[in-house]
Amino acid sequence: MYKFKEENLLETELFNLREKLGEISDLDSSLALLSWDQQTYMPPKGAAARGRQRATISALAHRMLTSAEMGERLQRLHERRDELSDGDRVLVDVAIYDYKRTACLPEDFVEKLAMAQSSGYEAWVASRKDNDFSSFLPYLEKLIDLAKRKAEYHGYEGSSYNALLEDFERGMTAEQLDSIFGELSLRQSKLVEKITASSNQPDITWLDRKWPEQPQLDFTLLVLRDMGFDFEAGRQDLAAHPFTTSISLHDIRLTTRTSRDEPFSCLTGSIHEGGHGFYEQGFKESDTRTPLAKGASFGIHESQSRTWENIIGRSLPFWRYYTPLFLKHLDDGPAKISADQIFRAINHVRPSLIRVEADECTYNLHIILRYEIERAVLEGKMAAREIPEAWNARMKELLDIEVPDDASGCLQDIHWSMGMFGYFPSYALGNLYAAQMFKQIEKDLPNLWTEVEAGQFNGLLGWLRRNVHVHGRRKLAPQIVYDNSGSEPSSKPYLQYLEAKYSKLYSL
Ligand code: ZN
Repeated sequence: MYKFKEENLLETELFNLREKLGEISDLDSSLALLSWDQQTYMPPKGAAARGRQRATISALAHRMLTSAEMGERLQRLHERRDELSDGDRVLVDVAIYDYKRTACLPEDFVEKLAMAQSSGYEAWVASRKDNDFSSFLPYLEKLIDLAKRKAEYHGYEGSSYNALLEDFERGMTAEQLDSIFGELSLRQSKLVEKITASSNQPDITWLDRKWPEQPQLDFTLLVLRDMGFDFEAGRQDLAAHPFTTSISLHDIRLTTRTSRDEPFSCLTGSIHEGGHGFYEQGFKESDTRTPLAKGASFGIHESQSRTWENIIGRSLPFWRYYTPLFLKHLDDGPAKISADQIFRAINHVRPSLIRVEADECTYNLHIILRYEIERAVLEGKMAAREIPEAWNARMKELLDIEVPDDASGCLQDIHWSMGMFGYFPSYALGNLYAAQMFKQIEKDLPNLWTEVEAGQFNGLLGWLRRNVHVHGRRKLAPQIVYDNSGSEPSSKPYLQYLEAKYSKLYSL
């Protein structure tokens, strides 16, 4: 009789926990929708009110997550952890992690940080426009100071950078990044040098014309549909800076942008965001409204977008199938373009100033530069005012590029102005994770490339669903990579992939 009552209590605790987590998740979804709307359809004058609405809802969600009631319930469940089923145990563990991670930051600190982020962002927009780093400097110094304090609140082992990295890439450390990025920067720089010196450069003169915009959008919808994106559970709209937002498992919003000057960025952007969208559509139905229905890390999320965008969307088999369709949609001129010509143009390597426009060979070098600088600054080894000089010197070393001004140098990215230190490594890790898991995919799916050449992607999507998507946050990123490749996260598979692909393309 007594035992029965205890079990009942445990069930009630779990039920109440799920209810509360569900309410928090509903608030987060509402925030996501408000923010999607702000970046797509909201008229400009709505910004101030929207800011207040978002602040109110996020304060409410924060209060619910860090309430004494939540803390006590989690404590009681933790004490009876051994009695929980495997599924409930992982939910309780993740909820406790989120609770501790959030509750260790005092409320007045969170408020100060939010204010510094919002004024930092405004200052950054103006300073980038005026190409004036000095006007952003005091705001940046304030944000760095707050990031250092945040690291102290969280606590860390080894570098203080680890405390911030954890928000984006839990399970990875700065010490591991050093060893992964060390080899990567050496070999990628060398590869780029060889490519630049190669006499076998692609002919891209045929791209030099104006490209109509609506057909670009129509073509992306066709490709996304072929890949398996469920438009009954998602949509695509235009945005200045493409992103993906999940409102719920069955409501995923992709965004893209068109360009009159070239026809590929709309497609590659769409496929990239589609990769994020597939992940968000692939969580377990029973995990909805819980913190488990999220990506394992930003790097794993990025690995999904990079698999589709780069490994598939920039491959020759892909273009063997899509070239006639591409031409039918986009080419109203007489020129006949071959799959090979598109394959070469879409993989054109050119060291450039801007990260978001970088090709596969140079992209990670942009990330490594940012990682080195933000880590040095947070560890107190570099002052904020020294950033422009360090940036320009490293651009010269890694990419052999002279930076003409800070607007196209250290002021180009939004991240630091929003206090997001520790975010950048995830972009590079996404590339590495993608290549590492793809080796296993090729082993498991021997017909993969024949299918891609026929415009069929069921096999690939099914593999990603089973081996990555369905886990949500049940596993940490390094575990997902290990389970799907048999080894720890490493730069080697990515380097092999790059060197093989580009040696052929550029006859190295
Ligand atoms: Zn992405």
